[in-house]
Amino acid sequence: MPDHLMATYGRLSVSFERGEGAWLWSDDGRRFLDALSGIAVCGLGHAHPGVRAAICEQAAQLVHVSNLYRIPSQETLGERLCAAAGMERVFFANSGAEANEAAIKLARLLAHGRGIQRPEILVMENSFHGRTLATLTATGSRKAQAGFEPLVSGFVRVPYDDLGAVETAAGNRANIVAVLVESIQGEGGIVMPSAGYLAGLRELCDRHGWLLMLDEVQSGMGRTGRLFAHQHEGILPDVMTLAKGLGNGVPIGACLARGEAAGVLGPGSHGSTFGGNPLACRAALAVLDALEADDLPARAGAAGERIRSGLRDGLADLSGVVAVRGRGLMIGVELDRACGELVATALDAGLLINVTAQRVVRLLPPLIIDDAQAEQIVSTVVRIIRDFLGADGADTGPSPGA
Ligand SMILES: *Cc1c(COP(=O)(O)O)cnc(C)c1O
Repeated sequence: MPDHLMATYGRLSVSFERGEGAWLWSDDGRRFLDALSGIAVCGLGHAHPGVRAAICEQAAQLVHVSNLYRIPSQETLGERLCAAAGMERVFFANSGAEANEAAIKLARLLAHGRGIQRPEILVMENSFHGRTLATLTATGSRKAQAGFEPLVSGFVRVPYDDLGAVETAAGNRANIVAVLVESIQGEGGIVMPSAGYLAGLRELCDRHGWLLMLDEVQSGMGRTGRLFAHQHEGILPDVMTLAKGLGNGVPIGACLARGEAAGVLGPGSHGSTFGGNPLACRAALAVLDALEADDLPARAGAAGERIRSGLRDGLADLSGVVAVRGRGLMIGVELDRACGELVATALDAGLLINVTAQRVVRLLPPLIIDDAQAEQIVSTVVRIIRDFLGADGADTGPSPGA
């Protein structure tokens, strides 16, 4: 194991040398099917021709100049993202946590402008928003927070998918200014809110004058079958954050806003040395081009249906399988027990997967997977889960629900 790297990750010992589409090759020559996409980052797969060309071309011209100058590709990217999302302005950062930091700062600044000196942001149990101090505080995991106290003040937590709890908080607390919430919880175990939850939040935010701030860092960029997951619900947030899939591996994050929220951050109020540099913006523009040209969100939606239905069929008789759920290519298989060891089992079988929230097998394959690859994901995952649960996980109990 690496002696000179801080041990923040428990790494598998495999290392990859090359990728193409949904395939990866390790430095010892083995081939793997990637059903994780570098944690929902490489949505177009590896070495995508359009992204590769954009990066190579831009690297040969200009990588970075700072935001002290106009950056045409950043302006174009901002315009295209706003048009696609129904938003007005963008702040570019380098990661999901930074995009969320921008959203949090924006909400606080807006509150101070309204004379609220100690604004509060409503956040959810079981959520994930990043590892910086403010986003860690917003994150609904005591395990992630433990040891980093004192945390940041000004966050109020309620259960996810519980509009009544939000109403109660609204009645009890006068200083709430925004709700920060994932459209679908990713790290929390691919937890889908009930239909109507986001619309209900929209309505509550309108009624109380709060900002609805959607964290689409994982669920955005076409993964769920629409460009942004909230678009399935027909609502518009006031603020939305993006990162992961936006640059297909080139680090970039974005905080989009509309209405009053779009005008809050002015000169000197926030910034980033690297944010939105020419290389990252060219990569993200190439991602948008490919998503549109190949209708990839729709393909992801269809591929996800296939995979989920294959998994349900293959696992139907196992009482150890609690649920097969998700939207598009954001898929979770919840088991009744901790199953972290399945990551190594899958790797031995030539498949990259992840386990999150202890007992949820998480699949985030690239949007470009073909039918045969989808089939391989299903058959491998079904086999390793069947083997893992063994005799005691199998009975004729109820089939896994939606
Ligand atoms: C990954 C993730 C983040 C943090 O992104 P980083 O780029 O790791 O800082 C924030 N929110 C959600 C929903 C995520 O999935």
